[in-house]
Amino acid sequence: MPVQHYTVRESTRARRVILRILPHGRLEVVIPAGFSRRRIPEIVREHSGWIQQTLEKMKSRSGGFPDGSSSIPDMIHLRAVNLHYPVRFTQTCDGTVKLTQTGDHGLELVGNSGEIEAGIQLLRRWLRHQGRLHLIPWLHGVAEELGLSFTKARILHQKSRWGSCSGKGTISLNQDLLFLPPELVRYILVHELCHTLHLNHSREFWAHVAVHEPDFKSLDAQVNRARAFVPQWAGKC
Ligand SMILES: [Zn+2]
Repeated sequence: MPVQHYTVRESTRARRVILRILPHGRLEVVIPAGFSRRRIPEIVREHSGWIQQTLEKMKSRSGGFPDGSSSIPDMIHLRAVNLHYPVRFTQTCDGTVKLTQTGDHGLELVGNSGEIEAGIQLLRRWLRHQGRLHLIPWLHGVAEELGLSFTKARILHQKSRWGSCSGKGTISLNQDLLFLPPELVRYILVHELCHTLHLNHSREFWAHVAVHEPDFKSLDAQVNRARAFVPQWAGKC
């Protein structure tokens, strides 16, 4: 294997040497403070197999990363609230997977290329948190506007439903709603809130929906096709 080009970064937080492959395939060697740089070439050589493998995987999937049906997204677009989050995925030879939000609108996922599933789980957990931040206040707002009330709201990751309303007035919303256009999300919120009055799809229920959302027929049809808005990494439960 040819000698690998790399950059060295000294970190006061690093407790040992960590190799990272940054986006675009650049190798970065993170060393603890005071670590002798003369030892680096040997460490890089020892890990040449891992480096080569990881780079090849990166190349074989343009812009994406390895095996399995899902890959880590480069960008997360929460259409419902018009927010874009670039995702920086840094591969390390380390076994841990970590997700941090950098600034307001960037995500950094650090992990081993063999841990794609774990990384995706972290992104889904982040998505659920975004659901609590955005969807629940939105539901409160629409409830107020409609003059309707609910007992409790929660964010779930349901396979086949965008939302539901229980007999006790608990409204559950799917975290994947964040990927839908805002008018569809609003329609779903109206729909679930009307279920607090009618726990069925009776004529009375639809009459009530129509008062608040005259275009409900077209919106309901669009909602049934809306899974297409959900990216692959987010969609599987
Ligand atoms: Zn319904």
